[in-house]
Amino acid sequence: MKMTNHIIYLQETYQMEECPQCRGAGQLEYDVPKPHAGGFNEGYIDTEWGDCELCEGRGEVIKPCPACGEDMSLWDTMHGIVCQACQEEEA
Ligand SMILES: [Zn+2]
Ligand SMILES: [Zn+2]
Repeated sequence: MKMTNHIIYLQETYQMEECPQCRGAGQLEYDVPKPHAGGFNEGYIDTEWGDCELCEGRGEVIKPCPACGEDMSLWDTMHGIVCQACQEEEA
């Protein structure tokens, strides 16, 4: 049945949202502390660009349920602002 497949697709596909850590860029500037070398200086903080740890460079993350923190599916977001489990709890 075509309709059923569509529902399963929605339920199994995660709702993605822009990564809050890198704001969708996928990369972040990290502080890299450099220890002092040879006693000439006190060390310093260098910065390097690298993949965002939260989204692993993808720039987007699975939207968490605002109530329980579980991964939200497309189905969940179509039917409410919280996940299906939370929606059933409220009903
Ligand atoms: Zn990110
Ligand atoms: Zn929930």
